[in-house]
Amino acid sequence: MQIYNTMTRKKEEFIPLEAGKLKLYACGPTVYNYFHIGNARAFIFFDVVRRYFEHLGYDVTYVQNITDIDDKIIAQSIEEKIEFHTIADKYSNAFLEDCARLGVKKPHHQPRATEVMPAIIAYIDELVKQGYAYESGGDVYFSAESLPEYGSLSGKKIEDQMAGARVEENTLKRHSADFTLWKKSKPGEPIWQSPWGEGRPGWHTECVVMSQQYLGETFDIHGGGIDLVFPHHENELAQALALRHKPLANYWMHNGFLNVEGVKMSKSLNNFFTARDILDQFSAEAIRFFFLSKHYRSPIDFNREIIEESEKAVSNFYSSIKQLLLSQSKSYSDLKAALAIDPELDKIKLEFDRSMQDDFNTAKAVASLFDLNRIVRSDAQDPAFRLKAAALLVNLGEVLGFFGKLEETLKDKTPDLSRQLIELIISLRAKVREEKNWALSDSIRDQLAALGVEIKDGKEGCTWSIKG
Ligand code: AMP
Ligand code: ZN
Repeated sequence: MQIYNTMTRKKEEFIPLEAGKLKLYACGPTVYNYFHIGNARAFIFFDVVRRYFEHLGYDVTYVQNITDIDDKIIAQSIEEKIEFHTIADKYSNAFLEDCARLGVKKPHHQPRATEVMPAIIAYIDELVKQGYAYESGGDVYFSAESLPEYGSLSGKKIEDQMAGARVEENTLKRHSADFTLWKKSKPGEPIWQSPWGEGRPGWHTECVVMSQQYLGETFDIHGGGIDLVFPHHENELAQALALRHKPLANYWMHNGFLNVEGVKMSKSLNNFFTARDILDQFSAEAIRFFFLSKHYRSPIDFNREIIEESEKAVSNFYSSIKQLLLSQSKSYSDLKAALAIDPELDKIKLEFDRSMQDDFNTAKAVASLFDLNRIVRSDAQDPAFRLKAAALLVNLGEVLGFFGKLEETLKDKTPDLSRQLIELIISLRAKVREEKNWALSDSIRDQLAALGVEIKDGKEGCTWSIKG
């Protein structure tokens, strides 16, 4: 298994710390708003890393934090005129809901920063006592100069940061490269008591404490989007190196950005679409397919036409399987039981594994799914062979997080074309609703109802059923 390690800037053979076990940490959201579809790229990608290791038989522990105390949350609580923890609760619940809708498997642990506050304070205290951090005016800073390895992950040199320092630089810091571990609170802000007075922790300490608490002092993979390399991951690593004299993680993995017209999708640039809005327009599997069709380190431009193409590709997989099972009068459990060794199919499986083990080349792995799909659809092939190909398609597709709705879809007796037409009408209606044309949206709903198709608009998007 080859993994591109940001630390060494090359692909390396993956060797777990403990044979057969994977300890994985990926940075989660700061819960001050609904997350956008760019964030979803990171959540989906690390879900695939987890799923693939599980497929290889690893005993995986996957930890993802929830940052529930941060300047942005405080700013949002002022804007919405609600207490900060109510904001954090609201958006962390929304985060969990949206991840479930995206088909992201729940990580084994999802600690929230405010739950580990005594451990965070103790960590900072130890850094101060060992001379790596200093208190200044009620804040606590990490002294970058105190750690010779500082900058090793991002390749940034302390001197360069000095040269780039601005006049308005925080005067409480000794050096412009120093970063905040503890922040003195302003009036009206949430507070925790500490040896340095009332305040709150910095983000970089939150993550290092949560990761080590659940995974140990050194773990296998630490991940996140490429924007986290500096300063976030560099600063997490600095604290771990200072206190434990050991690397925080053996491999650092970073996904590329989802861009909008070449620019990173981000809240601050206001060029974003929330994942929940996109989920109202496209299926979770189409979104996943859209991301996985590119290598995780490559940038991707947000493109509705390509997501629509992805929707077609996914529904083509579903309909191939459905039609094959119908033509052979087979059920979902027959399909599952048909997974078997076959020299021809094993070549495709091998190719799939080769792609995934080449630094998670999901774009090539998806091509193997298409190879299988061609066999499933080919009338010229032997029926038993086609069924085995369908079983393998589902098996490998599930490794990438597809086919979550297959069993349910197979129970649906609505003829395929009718179902596709209903879904098409519903997706067009979603666009009508986006334009706030409520009259037309209601009229579509009523006309469908007259045909016996009942639709419901809920928090999870629009669902439909056939009456009677
Ligand atoms: P945040 O809540 O901003 O800390 O982001 C949560 C995760 O999403 C982090 O791993 C980020 O690196 C990642 N992320 C943020 N913006 C993008 C983007 N436009 N494309 C891909 N990943 C992103
Ligand atoms: Zn983090």
